[in-house]
Amino acid sequence: MTNKIEPEETIFSKIIRQEIPTPLLYQDELVTAFRDISPQAKCHILIIPNKLIPTVNDIVEQDELTLGRLFTVANKLAKEEGIADDGYRLIMNCNNHGGQEVYHIHMHLVGGQPMGKMLNI
Ligand code: AMP
Repeated sequence: MTNKIEPEETIFSKIIRQEIPTPLLYQDELVTAFRDISPQAKCHILIIPNKLIPTVNDIVEQDELTLGRLFTVANKLAKEEGIADDGYRLIMNCNNHGGQEVYHIHMHLVGGQPMGKMLNI
């Protein structure tokens, strides 16, 4: 018998299940999207896998379909938000040095204004 330690749920799992009633911009069987509670740009949306994957380091090959869906939903939402043509930035932070705060991977879709230099170290 293996003692597999299940990753600890974050607030994002509760949002996915709507136990915390956050307005959703998109949801399907693989991913969920909603606005960031503390927007860093005029448009700041989080797109997250429904499956709890704590960090990019925990991604496995079986997650590839889900991860691809993050991009197609980012593309769709950027068009809906009217920011696709001007452009936007997609960000995924990993662990401490990456600045990750919530340990359930999520793609940040930020735009609606010039995003400046890529890194602000
Ligand atoms: P990261 O630093 O990449 O882990 O980003 C976590 C993001 O989640 C931050 O931008 C937070 O503002 C955002 N966030 C945390 N709690 C909530 C929430 N309840 N609803 C929406 N966004 C949240």
